[in-house]
Amino acid sequence: MTESRNRARKVTRKAGPPEVEAVVFQAPEAAVQSAEPATQDGEQASESAGNGRGRGAGNSAGNNSGNRRGGRGRGRNGNGNGGNGNAGNNGGGNNRGRRNVVKSMQGADLTERLPEPPQAPKDGLRIVALGGISEIGRNMTVFEYKGRLLIVDCGVLFPSSGEPGVDLILPDFSYMEGKWDKVEALVVTHGHEDHIGAIPWLLKQRHDIPILASRFTLALIAAKTKEHRQRPKLIEVNEQSNVNRGPFNLRFFAVNHSIPECLGIAIKTGAGLVVHTGDIKLDQTPTDGRPTDLPAMSRLGDEGVDLFLCDSTNATTPGVSGSESEIGPTLKRLVVDAKQRVIIACFASNVYRVQAAIDAAVASGRKVAFNGRSMIRNMEIAEKMGLLKAPRGTIIQMDEAAKLAPHKVLLVTTGTQGEPMAALSRMARREHRQITVRDGDLIILSSSLVPGNEEAVFGVINMLAQIGATVITGRDAKVHTSGHGYSGELLFLYNAVRPRNAMPVHGEWRHLRANKELAISTGVQRDRVVLAQNGVVVDLVGGRAQVVGQIPVGNLYVDGVTMGDIDAKVLEDRTSMGEGGVIDITAVIDNRTGRLLERPTARALGFSEDAVAMMPEIADLVETIMIEQAGEGENDPYRIAQQVRRKVARFVEQKWRRKPFVMPTVVPMASDTAVVDDADLHNARPSL
Ligand SMILES: [Zn+2]
Repeated sequence: MTESRNRARKVTRKAGPPEVEAVVFQAPEAAVQSAEPATQDGEQASESAGNGRGRGAGNSAGNNSGNRRGGRGRGRNGNGNGGNGNAGNNGGGNNRGRRNVVKSMQGADLTERLPEPPQAPKDGLRIVALGGISEIGRNMTVFEYKGRLLIVDCGVLFPSSGEPGVDLILPDFSYMEGKWDKVEALVVTHGHEDHIGAIPWLLKQRHDIPILASRFTLALIAAKTKEHRQRPKLIEVNEQSNVNRGPFNLRFFAVNHSIPECLGIAIKTGAGLVVHTGDIKLDQTPTDGRPTDLPAMSRLGDEGVDLFLCDSTNATTPGVSGSESEIGPTLKRLVVDAKQRVIIACFASNVYRVQAAIDAAVASGRKVAFNGRSMIRNMEIAEKMGLLKAPRGTIIQMDEAAKLAPHKVLLVTTGTQGEPMAALSRMARREHRQITVRDGDLIILSSSLVPGNEEAVFGVINMLAQIGATVITGRDAKVHTSGHGYSGELLFLYNAVRPRNAMPVHGEWRHLRANKELAISTGVQRDRVVLAQNGVVVDLVGGRAQVVGQIPVGNLYVDGVTMGDIDAKVLEDRTSMGEGGVIDITAVIDNRTGRLLERPTARALGFSEDAVAMMPEIADLVETIMIEQAGEGENDPYRIAQQVRRKVARFVEQKWRRKPFVMPTVVPMASDTAVVDDADLHNARPSL
């Protein structure tokens, strides 16, 4: 299952105009974000996810520093952050087709770098994951046979705190350049954001790629693409489907997870039979009566499975996960005993959990209201499809719920990960428009705590506790169970499928390794379990899967509505602004001689009073630097700004042991123009 990482920094993002020069990678015109930014829209990552997330390479900076500098700032003129009027100066703009491809190995693997892969084998199947292996999130795997391609899943990853201001991280599509026409279909295993979230951006590359998925998954994809004003070609399949797309024969089987209508896929080509689980668990008593179809997987095993791609998310957890059916009775007991208002927070797509909440509300004579944009949208879809059942009149609007007596109401909300803009956080801060949490209210966090989000979540819990509310989490009562099978369940899968080769997917390195050992313990030969992180190329030839090389993959960041516009360097800048503060310097020079026309100004943001008081010292330093520069005949504002930045940064580091983001602006003026106003400053900003 999946729950998003915390995006503590994000508040609002402006939807800047799409940029003309990077048409290919432009985001859709419709604003992606709305009042409640991506928060739990989707729920990503997993219950067992770790801190590391293994996506190290993207942040390693330096690799492609400067490579897109010219691009930054485009489209955000007027926000005071350097319109970068002469982008050409710093070498940007000529690499728009090649974004952000990080050269170094992805993830935590320290093994030697692999060579470029050879040509795809003539009769073999090639498999390349562009995301989702060595990390949890943004799943996307590409299968290639006889020059034709099949994509499985296309999800997003939510950024970590090392990626300030980034909304989403997409799989790196670079590998697909020049190949989009060869794509037969995109097959989607289920509707979680880490499997569908990047589809709008994929459709920007080619709008008519057929998308195959179950009815509920398609409905979520349709809602998402509609926000982007897209009308994709959607083809419904179910667990009985058997379809051919080009050289790929596709059969599906029912899979149980934490969202309805998940499918596993059997892909048959001339190179053999491949089975992909998607996200999976083996709940023996699922509340929707649709367990993972182990018999079907076993039949595929009888047929002979050449390669098995298996979910690794909980491979390190011993035993078996709890059943969803255990949650309902606990919720019911808690809600029936509650004296005042009850608020249940869970993932916005967990229809089973919301159903349990509704059942508990009905048992205690309460009405239910949904809170949070994604929750409202998803539950509307689920109810329409008959996946969510409530007696007529049970579900009411928030406005109505706010007027009812507290013991008559149960609210179901997003915000389980302490996301600052989600409803629960706003309630905890007493900033929610309709709901005021009171002493004696009961709050149930029916969710996992995704590692990395502890601080935010405990912050929310403490604020609620301060008000006097009782907060129940999975640690206090059985109010949550994971959507991913534990190691005991994965063993069942291996024994049913009995694959010749195995390839652990969906997980960080420790999960992949653990999954590998599980495969081996059931009889898969050690040298036939391939650990292939993102970008590692695996060929299945003659019944044998082998790593044959590696393609570079990086992180494709979405910032506001633009995609691929920021890179590691930009993130480094943002981090240094956040950690070291900002020193903003403005100097006006004679456009011919480069001589100062007035004393430079220096302003500090994010500094203590003492340091701010020293700004005149910085202004003196700038003045000295500029007099020197003018003496050397320098009159290029960009080069002057570079000098100023370098020297001021060094001075501040030596003096205060800090590394602020130094932002010099050198404004060239004709010397007879006496007055500089703000508009000139913004229009001229040639620096940085
Ligand atoms: Zn999932």
